[in-house]
Amino acid sequence: MRTKIVAGNWKMNLTLTESKQLVNKLKFSSNSENIRVLIIPPYTNLDGLKRLLDAQNSNIEIGSQNLHHLNSGAYTGEISGQMLKDIGIHIVLVGHSERRTLFNECQEVVFQKSSSALNQNFEIIYCFGEQLSERIEGIHFNVIKNQLEHLINKIDLKYWESKQIVLAYEPVWAIGTGQTATSEQAQEMHHHIRHLIQQSLGVQIANQTSILYGGSVKPSNAKELFQQPDVDGGLIGGASLDATSFNSIIKSLITQ
Ligand code: PEP
Repeated sequence: MRTKIVAGNWKMNLTLTESKQLVNKLKFSSNSENIRVLIIPPYTNLDGLKRLLDAQNSNIEIGSQNLHHLNSGAYTGEISGQMLKDIGIHIVLVGHSERRTLFNECQEVVFQKSSSALNQNFEIIYCFGEQLSERIEGIHFNVIKNQLEHLINKIDLKYWESKQIVLAYEPVWAIGTGQTATSEQAQEMHHHIRHLIQQSLGVQIANQTSILYGGSVKPSNAKELFQQPDVDGGLIGGASLDATSFNSIIKSLITQ
């Protein structure tokens, strides 16, 4: 059985005070290890929220939005895996489209970060997705294949086996735009992704790897998306900033 995950990417939103208020309103409890809920707040909130979640014995997990591939050095404004691990953070997003486009993270950099994070025993949520122009041109399946190539062919199989790699397919045209991929479009691409994994890494890895959908997921469309056979949950941006919406999306995952 594949693990189902809902992860809230808060981006550059919420002060620590606001974050704590939001966390206090989130509702998630599960006895199943196969259902997980994560929050991914800004750096300044990681330590405080980790302590709060621990104090509450919460099942909600917490991850970072980014990391630098090196452990320390003259990299003003960056944060290392070592620093994150020191405050108990073991999950990190890599390759989010905003990092790729606004902060010029090319495939090589995303691969460097992924590889460094995995070597340091992080679980990574690897984000990727095509631009609208690429979908219109009809090259989206190839674009996705290229974005996954390094990860599938160059990363040690042990990291796939240990389920340290979670994939998040996020069509760029659907992120923050209100324009969600239809459940058919999401399923079609997730099936393609699973097939790519199967071709190179085998059926067992393909079947056990969680593939999340991201891009304008909201309470009104979450259930239908999560019901697709190859969609194992969602990476949620805007809707994760509101307790009612995020709780509703979490419920969609639990009850589908
Ligand atoms: C995201 O930031 O990963 C995302 C999917 O954002 P939104 O849900 O707002 O489209």
